[in-house]
Amino acid sequence: MSRKPIIVGNWKMNKNNAETDEFFKSVEGHLHDAADFGVAVPFTDLATAVAGAKDLIVAAENVHFEASGAFTGEISVGMLQELDVKWVILGHSERRQYFNETDETVNKKTLAAFAGGLTPIVCVGETLEEFEAGKTEEVVRRQVAGALEGLYVEDAKKLVIAYEPVWAIGTGKSATKEIAQNTCALVRDEVRLIFSKEVSDVVRIQYGGSVKPDNIKEYMDEADIDGALIGGASLKVDSFLEIVEAVK
Ligand code: 13P
Repeated sequence: MSRKPIIVGNWKMNKNNAETDEFFKSVEGHLHDAADFGVAVPFTDLATAVAGAKDLIVAAENVHFEASGAFTGEISVGMLQELDVKWVILGHSERRQYFNETDETVNKKTLAAFAGGLTPIVCVGETLEEFEAGKTEEVVRRQVAGALEGLYVEDAKKLVIAYEPVWAIGTGKSATKEIAQNTCALVRDEVRLIFSKEVSDVVRIQYGGSVKPDNIKEYMDEADIDGALIGGASLKVDSFLEIVEAVK
């Protein structure tokens, strides 16, 4: 089954508008067709990113599930649509850890995103404590099942799921390719159980956690890893473009 790889940078709370503009000017024109490439940027950089984007996918880093109302500080799917944003990261472990994101809210956001025409990148992954307790499979299957509840089959096929073990994020301690592959295979198997093999064959699954230009290829060579979600190494034009080259 051939799935087009998808490589997405996650800037987290980094870069202002001038830096965003500079990044897009430096990166556009250097991409290729062997993979889809994108970056998830802070809300305040989205308009600049969309204006500068040609081939790069522009993603938001979060969205609220309600259409409008008394939710101070939140952004709706409609507001992202207005900016011509088509993608959104949901359930990143930093949002689960620091901002009370749960499987239930990730599910509501996933449904709202698809209803509004956005494609979500749903993040799952166990903490170090869960990893050491041998609970990776249980946690990851629960997170996948929770996020996908009630999804239409046709939407599920468009989904991207990112497996990011929390202990590998920003630590420089990336998961071995065997661990990454095994868990991405579990994610795919859970999608098969919930929907069907037809769906699990087309869903794209990324690995994330200390992915760098010098290790991306080893992940991409694994059967169930269709791309990467990249934090630190996506911030610099040079390392982003080295990653682009590495997956040619
Ligand atoms: P790092 O690549 O900096 O480890 O971050 C991974 C991540 O959280 C991407 O969403």
